[in-house]
Amino acid sequence: MKKISILGSTGSIGTQAIDVLKNLKMEVLGLTAHSNIELLEQQIYELQPLVVAVTDHEKALELRRRLRTNLVETKVVSGIEGLIEVATLDEVDIVLTSIVGMVGLRPTVAAIEAGKHIALANKETLVTAGELIMPLAKQHGVMIYPVDSEHSAIFQCLQGNNAKEVEKIILTASGGPFRGKTINELRNVTLSDALNHPNWSMGKKITIDSATLMNKGLEVIEAKWLFDLDIKDLEVVVHPQSIIHSMVLYQDGSYMAQLGQPDMRVPIQYALTYPKRIKNNFQRLDFTGLKDLTFEKPDQGTFQCLQLAFDALARKGTQPTVLNAANEEAVNLFLNNQCSFLDIPEIILQSMDAHRNILEPTLDDILEVENWTRNFVKGRWSE
Ligand code: NDP
Ligand code: MG
Repeated sequence: MKKISILGSTGSIGTQAIDVLKNLKMEVLGLTAHSNIELLEQQIYELQPLVVAVTDHEKALELRRRLRTNLVETKVVSGIEGLIEVATLDEVDIVLTSIVGMVGLRPTVAAIEAGKHIALANKETLVTAGELIMPLAKQHGVMIYPVDSEHSAIFQCLQGNNAKEVEKIILTASGGPFRGKTINELRNVTLSDALNHPNWSMGKKITIDSATLMNKGLEVIEAKWLFDLDIKDLEVVVHPQSIIHSMVLYQDGSYMAQLGQPDMRVPIQYALTYPKRIKNNFQRLDFTGLKDLTFEKPDQGTFQCLQLAFDALARKGTQPTVLNAANEEAVNLFLNNQCSFLDIPEIILQSMDAHRNILEPTLDDILEVENWTRNFVKGRWSE
């Protein structure tokens, strides 16, 4: 029986993964949360893991006090060290990285170094350090299975084919809640407008990223590293219905696409059961009920975050780290009503322009640049 740790088990992906696991023969050995200890406590009684980590120290103490030790023997650890302990537990075969943000970087590196396969939802890790993560995974003989729906689609379209014969990868984007709006119309959009995604129910950070199109920008960088591609071979197409999850064009003119309901449990399951496809009862597509499948060009003039991601990728080095960290800070400001929607790309652009790029960075360089970026944004934009 395969054994798994779930980093970020209380989040949107984490909870859906636990749902998927009900149908799989896998044992959960480790879980982690940041603040939601009420939900983590329920998960502990249900799944009886060996160890759980709570990154917030106070909350970890509170959980230790609450936990009914007559029911479970789960150990509670805390902080980033706790996350790393859960990510590297001896018997674990695969780690699902479903925490949000580049805080996932160190536990992911530790898991790879401990020889664990990775089911990767935490795209920020690959955006900020793909240049280090992919060779590290190769060196340790571990697989990185994509959970992100677009990357799972591409991964599925590549099965049984020769990656050398790929001409282009086409990432589909829903366009988010503001598709079709002009810059002027975006000036006054509110937080609740931005949190209202048309097709997917997700955590707040990625929902804002979807509204700015930064999510697609991060995914372009994620795809570059996962599939070892050149920027020129990556294209983004807006497909508002989110039925085609992405496509691969081969050099003979054939397109392979992966389709399905917008349901993250499908790519989560494939990442956990690859190469097997296990029967489930998730909702199937009704093709005759689909009215239109439409496609349009992304509006990179209005949604500048997507262009900024392409720029960061072209500039290489630590620019993607700055892009990602500045975006995390900007999204936080926006979520706290401390900046406007259109300030988000402005904050990122200013950070990227102020940064002195480091080519071929080490992990320490990346962590330092992350700190620099967060301080730069806080210094300029926080009251
Ligand atoms: P959520 O916000 O729903 O969940 C985030 C998880 O990370 C929670 O378990 C949360 O704990 C934990 N967490 C938050 N902050 C920290 C921190 N500082 N240190 C450690 N853990 C922390 O996010 P999602 O599930 O939506 O997204 C998770 C990742 O998956 C992201 O990288 C996202 O881009 C990616 N992804 C998500 C998709 C989706 O459909 N949701 C689709 C594709 C990719 P707590 O709740 O206890 O505070
Ligand atoms: Mg996605």
